[in-house]
Amino acid sequence: MSLVENVARNDAESPAVAARTSDASGRIRTELSALFGRLKAAQQKSGAPDYDARIHHLNKLERGVLARKHDIAKVLGLDFGNRSKHESFIAEVMLVLNEIKHARTHLHEWMETDPREVSWMFMPARAEVIMQPLGVVGVISPWNYPVQLALAPLVGALAAGNRVLLKPSELAPNTANLLNELVRETFAEDHVAVVTGGVDVAEAFSHLPFDHLVFTGSACLGKIVMKAAAENLVPVTLELGGKSPAIVGEGYSVAQAAQKVMMGKCFNAGQTCIAPDYVLVPKGRADAFAEECRAAFKEMYPTVTENPDYTSIINNLHYERLQSYLKEARDHGAKLVELSTESPNPSARKMPPVLVMNAQEGSLVMQEEIFGPILPIVTYESMGDAIEYVNRRPHPLALYLFEYDHSRIDRVLRETISGGVSVNETMLHIAQTDLPFGGIGPSGMGQYHAREGFETFTKKKSVFYQSRINSTGLLKPPYRSRIDFMLKFLLGK
Ligand code: NAD
Repeated sequence: MSLVENVARNDAESPAVAARTSDASGRIRTELSALFGRLKAAQQKSGAPDYDARIHHLNKLERGVLARKHDIAKVLGLDFGNRSKHESFIAEVMLVLNEIKHARTHLHEWMETDPREVSWMFMPARAEVIMQPLGVVGVISPWNYPVQLALAPLVGALAAGNRVLLKPSELAPNTANLLNELVRETFAEDHVAVVTGGVDVAEAFSHLPFDHLVFTGSACLGKIVMKAAAENLVPVTLELGGKSPAIVGEGYSVAQAAQKVMMGKCFNAGQTCIAPDYVLVPKGRADAFAEECRAAFKEMYPTVTENPDYTSIINNLHYERLQSYLKEARDHGAKLVELSTESPNPSARKMPPVLVMNAQEGSLVMQEEIFGPILPIVTYESMGDAIEYVNRRPHPLALYLFEYDHSRIDRVLRETISGGVSVNETMLHIAQTDLPFGGIGPSGMGQYHAREGFETFTKKKSVFYQSRINSTGLLKPPYRSRIDFMLKFLLGK
């Protein structure tokens, strides 16, 4: 694909540069439209793939991912500086393969036509819902799990019989190129294609008249993407982020809670949409919790800078962003608790985790999604207060509760709203192939994974079959006494 690595950037303001920039964005739009047109034409010509064809597509993707699994870990290492190989295998390769297996196992049942009731008035007609692919699906994915977040939506879209255009993040360029190669080796170019390039390409991509668009990224860009999609009334699934709380129940072991919270916080160095963002602990137990976090971190990561298991921050900008959160919190009187004796290493972008105690409500760590190894600890007096604290904030993507008492678990589930929940665990609800995944409100809209993913990419089309012998002639004018009689019978006088 000739798109679009060396397109002029919008970084100068002279008329000549502005004209060149406008030429460049015109060219991007033209090339993207042509590419989209090829997928659309192929879809209109070939119609919906049958069950066998869809299984074949899923099998091809599975073989492609397996064949490239070591390359995947390698390019992720290049993009992050250091990305734990095990995290790449678990969260990128294994998760996608599990999605494929689940879709393959259930595809027959998902594709089945669904017979529906017909009221006695219309009998002996029939009604049913048939499952039809939407057409061409667009996927815009972020850098933090750049393989999983491009290929997991692809699994759902292919299972549902669609063609797909992917636009991976420019912040993980080696992975984007590998995805491009993998897709080219695996699929016909009018079936699945990858578009690489920068923000200008992503922006133009979001204006294409897709049959559905999946965007995974920040809420701020989610709004821009939704606006662009609205121009063509393109339905969107927005997979966004936010501040996901962890609540430690009063009777729960702080040691066990700290181990689980630190596992979730340190995986990918906290650069996970569903990482616990902050933790609510019962009043009087914050110091004990902090000490258990230190012990849990030391056990998992005896060293930091030289440790291949501890992932780097993706780039200098994000590293600086995280450091500035800490500085601001400290300047406003928060206590910072460093969990490692090693200092942060800016050149390797390795940042050991830091707990933030007594942060001010308006500080960046309490307002912004952290997306890195910083963990504010907030104390609460009663479970009711903890629930109220969560509910005063935008609905989170995930909520974690450490609690064994069933009535308290039920209460938190009933009284809080979030995209998903793990009880006595962090993050593992996303790994359950039979659970849908998605946020609510500011943390997202729509969902994929599992059957709900198939449904997101499927038109459930209502069909009514009239029978040869029927009584609907009664419903047309001129209306006579028989219809009056029937209406009286149905509606009363
Ligand atoms: P981002 O919003 O900065 O970028 C996401 C994607 O948007 C990138 O591929 C980028 O190329 C594209 N983009 C940039 N400008 C655009 C424009 N004008 N129009 C259309 N697309 C544009 O997000 P990020 O930094 O890559 O990822 C971090 C965010 O993503 C966090 O908020 C995190 O919580 C969220 N996230 C959510 C999930 C989820 O499944 N809910 C998963 C991972 C990350």
